[in-house]
Amino acid sequence: MTDIISLASYSEDQWLPAGGGDELKSAIDGSVIATMPATANVSIMLNHARKVGGPALRAMTFQQRGKMLRALADALSARKEELYRLSFLTGATRGDNAFDIDGGIGTLFVYASKAKALPDAHVMTEGSREAISRGNFAGQHILAPLTGVAVHINAYNFPVWGMLEKLAPTLLAGMPIIVKPGHVGCYLTEAAFRIMIESGALPAGAVQLLLGNTGDLLDQLDGQDSVAFTGSAATAQKLKANPNIIANTVRFAAEQDSLNTSILGNDTTADSPEFALFIKEVVREMTQKAGQKCTAIRRAMVPANLLDAAQDAIVTRLSKTTVGDPRDEASRMGALAGLTQRSDVIANVKLLSKEASIVTGGEPLALGGALDGGAFYAPTLLRCENPYAAETVHAVEAFGPVSTIMPYQDIDDAVALANAGQGSLVMSLFSHDPAVVAAMVSGSSIFHGRMMIVDRDSAADATGHGAALPHLQHGGPGRAGGGAELGGILGMMPYLQRTALQAAPATLDILKGL
Ligand code: NAP
Repeated sequence: MTDIISLASYSEDQWLPAGGGDELKSAIDGSVIATMPATANVSIMLNHARKVGGPALRAMTFQQRGKMLRALADALSARKEELYRLSFLTGATRGDNAFDIDGGIGTLFVYASKAKALPDAHVMTEGSREAISRGNFAGQHILAPLTGVAVHINAYNFPVWGMLEKLAPTLLAGMPIIVKPGHVGCYLTEAAFRIMIESGALPAGAVQLLLGNTGDLLDQLDGQDSVAFTGSAATAQKLKANPNIIANTVRFAAEQDSLNTSILGNDTTADSPEFALFIKEVVREMTQKAGQKCTAIRRAMVPANLLDAAQDAIVTRLSKTTVGDPRDEASRMGALAGLTQRSDVIANVKLLSKEASIVTGGEPLALGGALDGGAFYAPTLLRCENPYAAETVHAVEAFGPVSTIMPYQDIDDAVALANAGQGSLVMSLFSHDPAVVAAMVSGSSIFHGRMMIVDRDSAADATGHGAALPHLQHGGPGRAGGGAELGGILGMMPYLQRTALQAAPATLDILKGL
């Protein structure tokens, strides 16, 4: 049993009074892990970020900020075992930790590395000069950091990665941040945040941590501020409709629910290497982080003649997945983040089961003993015989170890079904036929932020359907929120203003000194 942690918000470069508020419980046995603090004063935080953090960050060059990211990554790497220990209590196995904690640190490293190619300056040019008249006059885009605050509102499922994936491009761009994690598991976010503060790598006011309610924070933002939200579509819709956000054209990026797809090409048979690769990927996505990944495969599509074979193979593989205490190395899948989250999964599986039959799972798991009170749920496969007539399977995300297998007749059908998700973060395709690949990419890319294509030749090096991809921009359109996650320098755009300068070439040369 761990001591109960009194959590604190971090405001004006100090930790505020800790604990005393709502209790946060362990995902694995329901015991109390931490207590939330009282609500922080958001006006004070905003003022500090604008008056202290912003100027300090903007006084640094892009390259200096890149070195700061590296120092943060080094500090977190050196103490990641501390984070692992806490992460188990969120229900995550050691393998899941690699995703959340190491993945987050990796994103900082990638951005630190990208910074080396940026100017050792405070403003950067974008693209080449444009000839805009016949004479001595030219055009040039420049990018400069906004002078406000970046507000990051994160989902509960990745307490560390969720914070770091937004923090890296924002700090590199030169904006101060208020981090507001999801309350479930925020003791892990707080611990990672503490390590960054204790590293001494950050200037005063660069980052603040807001635990609990945001109060009227969104009402106090203006056009120099930027909000990045990750969470449910319902919350995103509410927040982006805030009248102040609309009136002041506050930048608002949302990453939300997504009915991601994986497709087995119709060039395969049950003996093809791509068949086995597909099965492995579907099961991995169902069970990693107990399926609480925005990118998890919710819809697995197979040629109709392979539906039974694919179903059997998935069920066989799932049956070998040991669900148990995530601290136990033998456990392949841990718990959901909490009992409330499990109730949501139960309700959504019930909705899905109106259009699809439950093949395996579909119920909470009572593991008993020391794990009594844990939020365990069985890996659950549903089968939808007629996905063309279905609506719920393309619209409702059960945020847990849940996926629905469905048949398609030909590639045109596969494209139509994939796109029926109305915009997703990611699709993967397992095919060895260039014609199948070409048809899927040309028919479906516009509905997907990212597409991973795997065959027998690339499988060993493939990065994975759900793996973070800091190098490329990959937000999902439509239902997925229309955001634009990461993507190296592109990921900095929500925090930079692009201005088109028009002047004599000699005048534009002064930019080299900015
Ligand atoms: P959520 O309930 O929408 O909450 C998301 C964040 O918004 C949390 O920090 C939450 O804080 C905060 N929030 C809720 N109401 C708010 C309000 N009125 N004002 C300000 N902040 C508010 O989502 P969740 O349950 O944490 O996460 C699960 C969902 O996230 C799933 O649907 C999943 O698909 C989605 N997700 C999407 C992505 C992606 O990249 N597309 C990634 C991860 C997760 P509290 O926790 O304190 O309420």
